[in-house]
Order: sequence, then structure tokens, then C-alpha cells
Amino acid sequence: MTAAAAAFRTIPVALRANPYPVLIGAGGLAGLGEAVLNQGVAPGTRVLVVTNPVVNEHYGVSVLASLREAGLVCVLLELEAGEEQKTPATVALIHDAAFRHRLERGSLIVALGGGVVGDMAGFAAATWLRGIAVVQVPTTLLAMVDAAIGGKTGVNHPGGKNLIGAFHQPKLVLIDPAVLHTLPEREFRAGMAEVIKYGVIGDPSLFGDLEAAAQRDPLGGLANRDSVGEVLLERLLERSASAKARVVAADEREGGLRAILNYGHTLGHAVETLSGYGTYLHGEAVGLGMLAAGEVSLAMGLWQPGDQQRQRAVIAAAGLPLAWPALDPQAVLACLQGDKKVRQGRVRFVLPTAIGAVEIRDDVEPEIILRALERLSAPPGEG
Ligand code: NAD
Repeated sequence: MTAAAAAFRTIPVALRANPYPVLIGAGGLAGLGEAVLNQGVAPGTRVLVVTNPVVNEHYGVSVLASLREAGLVCVLLELEAGEEQKTPATVALIHDAAFRHRLERGSLIVALGGGVVGDMAGFAAATWLRGIAVVQVPTTLLAMVDAAIGGKTGVNHPGGKNLIGAFHQPKLVLIDPAVLHTLPEREFRAGMAEVIKYGVIGDPSLFGDLEAAAQRDPLGGLANRDSVGEVLLERLLERSASAKARVVAADEREGGLRAILNYGHTLGHAVETLSGYGTYLHGEAVGLGMLAAGEVSLAMGLWQPGDQQRQRAVIAAAGLPLAWPALDPQAVLACLQGDKKVRQGRVRFVLPTAIGAVEIRDDVEPEIILRALERLSAPPGEG
């Protein structure tokens, strides 16, 4: 299939210096080679495809075939899957492959996988020969709506997540929703948390779509690919990618506006850290973080109980956890102080004020946080 046959929708990421498109289309993997050529990459260009064994098994062959058909000279590098692999040592393996395959300034790295592969391959591209092009081909819902767009790349340091990194915008992002067929359901649900985030922080129409699905099936309408359905899924992908593209274009290096994307992440980060990485998936923790931020907002009189209920209903329909885990409250507060979003000792919270609007506040009292978490520990119908 050619790129044209895959009928991509195009979302522009309108950066001044290096704008690029996000292409969305079911079956689009087969059109990757042509899409790359359309970005001005010449046939004969050397390409290193970086992926992991699971994704390679499903999609490696068709991606390589599409790139080779377009006249690109490709090799594929398989890295072990998992967050614990997101280290400088693994990036060195990508650099070694770049050396072996003689990647030059004009060469290309293709990241085929979830956020782990995308962050590492993007960082390797940012650093090889002081920066070569990268194309992001995200294969998880989270990477499609978040990680692949915006140019944040990097790896973990023993001292914390994503401490080593660079901004390096991709040349192209190609999203093929069909690959979500093979994504484990739990990963799908975790990605849905980020979709919900975009609705709450700035897109009431997207939220309305989520709410309609939640009303059809309150306990699972957003929990897997089949219950969401192809048409709605493409719309959710398009709206979410557009939301991310808009924020990134307005604030490429996280100077201000981009901070709203951290909605749910401040308290979510505490859940991830204190439960031990791996107990909660990132998206599951973000879902809890959004509920907690909503409770804080309620306590501060910034938003309405009805809106918190609406937010809760879509999070429930995505099959995400609703009850705050049994964590030591003082440890949560201490963890917030270690967050990257702390400025001069004050924690910056993104708080919802309406469906589609948030405020950034640094005046949340610790007692308000503790009470909010207490209320979430045993929400209605649970515990
Ligand atoms: P992931 O990359 O670990 O993928 C999750 C699992 O799904 C893996 O086991 C993977 O092998 C498997 N998988 C991926 N696609 C599949 C498919 N189509 N079919 C079957 N299995 C598939 O996890 P993730 O949630 O995509 O990414 C999380 C990472 O993204 C974190 O490291 C996080 O820091 C990073 N991230 C980065 C940004 C950014 O702006 N750069 C934003 C958000 C998250």
C-alpha cells in the first residue's frame, strides 16, 4: 500500500524553525517509506530502525519492506523492552549500530515502538554526529498521543527518571492505529489516561466524546480498542495529537504553557515512585493524579463537584484505578518536594477549573493535599 492509499490525516506541528507533520491513518505503516521520501529524504539514504523484540515480531517486516521499497538503505536494531532498559548504556548500543551502519549527517533513525524506544532512539539521534534526523513511529497509545510528539528525548539516571536528555524534534511522526490491535489492554488503558488529560486541560469537545463512550458503557467503554471502536479511536488520536501539537508549537521548550501537560503528573509521579516503579503503569498513576488534583481543586473552591464526577466517570470507563493507594502521606509530601516541577521550594500544581480549563498554582497547602488524598483513598463504591 502506498502512503496515499493509507489516507493519512495530517496534523501540523507548527514550529518556527523545524515544523513537521503528524500523519494518522490505519494501515499507514505500509506507507512509511513514501511518507519519509515526502519529507525530503532522498532514496539511498541510510536508515537505522530501532525497535524491541515484541514490536519487531509484529511490525518489523512491514516497516523494513516499506522503507526498502522507497529505496532507503535500512538495518534494524532490536533492543530489550522495558523502562529499566532506558539507560545511557542502551543508547550506546544505538550509537554502536549507527557507527557500524555508517550513519552520516543526512542519515535517519526510525523509532518503531512505545515511549521507551522513542525516547532512546530520539536521544541517540539527538547526539549522533551532534544530531541527525529521527522519525517517530509510535506503537502504544501513550506514545501516539504524547511521547512521540514534541521532541523530548532522553533516558533515566539512577537518581531519577528522564534526567538525561535533549530536545530533538522528529522529522515526521507516523501513527498507524491498526497496530493497537496487538497492544496489551492494560497498556491501552494507561494511554487513555493521557487522552482524558487533553480533554480536561483544554478540549471540551474531546471530553464530550469520551463522556459519550463512558455513558454507553460506564465500566469499560474506553478500556480497550474494540469497545472504543475504530471511528472514535481515530478521532481521539487526532484530537489528542492536535492538542499536544498546539501546546508544543506555542511552547517548544517548556517555558510556560507546556507545563499544563503535567496535569495529573505531580501526584501521579508520587504514586509511581512510592509504590515502586512497575506497580502502577505511568498512565494509571496519571489517572490517580488527575483525580487527586480534582479533589485539591474542589477543596480550594476552584471547580465543581459535578465536574469532578464527570472526570471520575471517564476515568472509570477507561478501567483505570480510582482509589488512592495506601501510601505514607508524609512520604507523598516529601516526594512532591523532589519533583522537577518544584520552583523555589513551592510545588506547582496544574489544577482543573472547568472541563477544558486549568490553572497553575503554587499556593496549595499541604493539609489540603492530605485531605484530598484521604477522600480518594475510599471513593464512593470502593473500599
Ligand atoms: P513502552 O514503550 O514500555 O511500551 C509498553 C509495552 O508495550 C512494551 O512492553 C512494548 O514492547 C509493548 N508494545 C508496544 N507497542 C506494542 C504493540 N503495538 N503491540 C504489542 N505490544 C506493544 O511504554 P509506553 O507507555 O509507550 O512509554 C513509556 C515511556 O514513555 C516512559 O519511559 C516515559 O518516560 C516516556 N514518555 C516520554 C514522553 C516524551 O515527551 N518524550 C512523554 C510521555 C512518556
